[in-house]
Amino acid sequence: MSYDVIIVGGSFAGMSAAMQLARARRPILVVDAGAPRNRFAEASHGFLGQDGVAPAAIMREALRQLSAYPSVDFVHGRATAASGELDRFEVTLEDGAAHAARRLVLTTGVTDTLPDIPGLAERWGQSVMHCPYCHGYEVRDRRIGVLANHPMSSHQALMLPDWGPTTFFTQGLVPVEAELAGKLAARGVEVETTPVVDVLGEGLAISGVRLADGRTVALEAIFTAPQTAPTSPLAAQLGCAFEDGMTGPHLKLEPGQQRTSVAGVYSAGDTASPMHNATLASAAGVMAGIGAHQSLIF
Ligand SMILES: Cc1cc2nc3c(=O)[nH]c(=O)nc-3n(C[C@H](O)[C@H](O)[C@H](O)COP(=O)(O)OP(=O)(O)OC[C@H]3O[C@@H](n4cnc5c(N)ncnc54)[C@H](O)[C@@H]3O)c2cc1C
Repeated sequence: MSYDVIIVGGSFAGMSAAMQLARARRPILVVDAGAPRNRFAEASHGFLGQDGVAPAAIMREALRQLSAYPSVDFVHGRATAASGELDRFEVTLEDGAAHAARRLVLTTGVTDTLPDIPGLAERWGQSVMHCPYCHGYEVRDRRIGVLANHPMSSHQALMLPDWGPTTFFTQGLVPVEAELAGKLAARGVEVETTPVVDVLGEGLAISGVRLADGRTVALEAIFTAPQTAPTSPLAAQLGCAFEDGMTGPHLKLEPGQQRTSVAGVYSAGDTASPMHNATLASAAGVMAGIGAHQSLIF
């Protein structure tokens, strides 16, 4: 089947792109593997009108609304390959089916890699988090740990005191020299240079961390910035350029309308930005949808 646009990745960015194209009455296909990045969290926060709603419920409603548009097809599954050029792209799915399109929108998100510390990964999205704007309010006034994972982790440590009393675990990654020590002290942040080796607590809750020297520090929440990598290989297969963000590589965009370095390939959301947030992904998805649509006309 041939489409005007194939959107790979049907979450905040992809569904927002799809909505613009659907309303422009273009034949489009949305392919989605159903594993959005925030699936580990019970509730999504800060998205206007959807604060506190479960991520899956937001997407169910988006799918319901988009399904009302007759020019939209959906496939629940993974795209494994993309090839071609402007006006002649082909996307292959895991079941071997191949679909053609004049434009592509890649909104496949990123995958997180957490520090390799026992007890951390299983609490991801519950009591271990990365974004204070998303989940800080829910742990307000509790004892918070910031676990360094790269040299910019001090940025996170300087922010967290707005939500609760903060201890910064440098993990040997962040040298706390005089200037940084002064800033952390001014924000009331405690600094712990002995590495965390274990996260403690019942079930998904955290009661503290164990340090390499055997001491324990009482905590109720941990913030850490995971390393991120593009979830799908499609952009790389097409030859799209990448650049380095703070936590990992993301697609490099040309000025205007979410264009990648490959003509006819648009992208949005976490995989095309150093700033990861559902609203920002959605807004960029709107622009990618508009960009792909207008490029079919002008
Ligand atoms: C634990 C956690 C909690 C978060 N909470 C919040 C919050 O409260 N508020 C907020 O604003 N932000 C939050 N975020 C950030 C938010 O999840 C992301 O910014 C947002 O999901 C990015 O949207 P996206 O559409 O770019 O990617 P995603 O939502 O990650 O969606 C990408 C989609 O593409 C699909 N996909 C990937 N590869 C393929 C392929 N090859 N074929 C087909 N489909 C594919 C995936 O299955 C997925 O459905 C949170 C992140 C995490 C990790």
